[in-house]
Amino acid sequence: GKKTNTMDTTTKCYHNLHFIFIPLMAPGHLLPMVDMAKLLARRKVKVTIITTPLNSIHFQSTINREILLGSQIQILNIKFPNQESGIPEGCESVDTLPSMDLMSNFYIALCKLHQPLENIFQTLSPIPSCVISDKHISCVADIAQKFDVPRIIFDGTNCFHLLCNHNLHNFNKNIPNEGKFVVPNMPDIIELQKCQLPGLFNPGRNKKLNSFRERIREIDEKCSYGVVVNSFEELEENYVKEYQRVSGYKVWCVGPVSLCNNDELDKVERGKRINSNNESEYEIVKWLDSWPSNSVIYVCLGSLNRATPQQLKEVGLGLEATKRPFIWVLRGAYGKDEIEKWLYEERFEERVKGRGFFIKGWAPQVLILSHKAIGVFLTHCGWNSTLEGICGGVPLVTFPLFAEQFYNEKVVVQVVKNGVSVGAESVVHLGEEENYCVVVKKENVRDAIEKVMGEGEEKEKIYGDMARKALEEGGSSYRNMTLLIEDIMQHVENKVKV
Ligand code: UDP
Repeated sequence: GKKTNTMDTTTKCYHNLHFIFIPLMAPGHLLPMVDMAKLLARRKVKVTIITTPLNSIHFQSTINREILLGSQIQILNIKFPNQESGIPEGCESVDTLPSMDLMSNFYIALCKLHQPLENIFQTLSPIPSCVISDKHISCVADIAQKFDVPRIIFDGTNCFHLLCNHNLHNFNKNIPNEGKFVVPNMPDIIELQKCQLPGLFNPGRNKKLNSFRERIREIDEKCSYGVVVNSFEELEENYVKEYQRVSGYKVWCVGPVSLCNNDELDKVERGKRINSNNESEYEIVKWLDSWPSNSVIYVCLGSLNRATPQQLKEVGLGLEATKRPFIWVLRGAYGKDEIEKWLYEERFEERVKGRGFFIKGWAPQVLILSHKAIGVFLTHCGWNSTLEGICGGVPLVTFPLFAEQFYNEKVVVQVVKNGVSVGAESVVHLGEEENYCVVVKKENVRDAIEKVMGEGEEKEKIYGDMARKALEEGGSSYRNMTLLIEDIMQHVENKVKV
């Protein structure tokens, strides 16, 4: 792979600035924050990432490589409060929770991070200039206030999401319980149903979770200096502008941050679960090399795997029906035993032998999506995956499952227009999977794939190029990163004056 030239000798040196990153412990939040931290450190700002030992082992080596290339970046570990929150030892991230019933305990753990974070803040040197924290770790608001540093939030999504939530919050009591409605004040006509909305507007059974969400939203509103977004202006221009206008926040779009992994090793190792049975990346690439351009279907429903076994079976049958080569990331979570039994009893892997490649460990997704053989990405519309598909220049087949994923489907289908929907109709509340029936049939899966297969030549490639340009010197995200740094620089200088 091409060696990264991370250090640009013409950029100013900001080593008196010290940015603190506090990511949420879930791959969809931690991975982009680590990428963002790397990008910032390449701009000669000192960066510290604070997390817990079982999270940092997954990205220590990429940080070590950044240090070798000249970045001032470090990881500091605090203990994950397992005992105090009732989360089993050995589990320090959402994707490793033995059951989603423990989600509210996870929020308790996040609150219990308050004291350890405060203690570590006291030892930081130079004094933090600002803290970029996942919005879910809301105790950081108090800490930032106490140490008088600006708290910038990150929530893993895009401006479409931020604007949609903003508008729905004001509209909340008018959201109909049944049927479609138009989200007010959006730049495009966006129709959604209540059952497709994230938990804040469409609460699940878990009351505790609902109240945590509400609290996070309140703290968010009161105590943040601005928001960094893993998106780029050209992708959702109207939404960026409109969100800036209505929220009054400082908004910095600095993505797609996954593009910082231009080193082959960084792509291979990104997020890799050290203890899981990872398929060899070499085998995956060798297999992909054996197929023509734009011919392979890549299927991955994210790091949390919340689709039901019944639903997964339909996905499998749909893939079989395309008669095309595919990679299916099928690492079990909910209903793991059942799906494995089905694979075995139906001899499914044999039926698709040669053209079906199964990944049952952690998939090197960014590596896979950058391979020219991939022709379509069937995704659950987690925002990172969506962006990674856009960067890979492939059309998407959208299969939203939970959280704000139905919003992201709208971004794909209506705003960017680089994909088609498989026809999912409602979110699966985490921990309530058993209530969810199969709505997407194998025919839907097959037909949606056929609609976009092989189209990844024109528009999709243009968006991929646009994304790369945004991150290069002179691009919009590069410029926004500069603006962020200079804003904080100014803030620090003003503080010294008074
Ligand atoms: N990911 C990966 N391998 C996997 C599953 C996920 O590399 O087997 C990465 C993926 O590239 C993305 C992140 O994990 O960066 C998942 O984030 P996303 O927002 O797409 O969905 P979530 O997992 O949060 O639902």
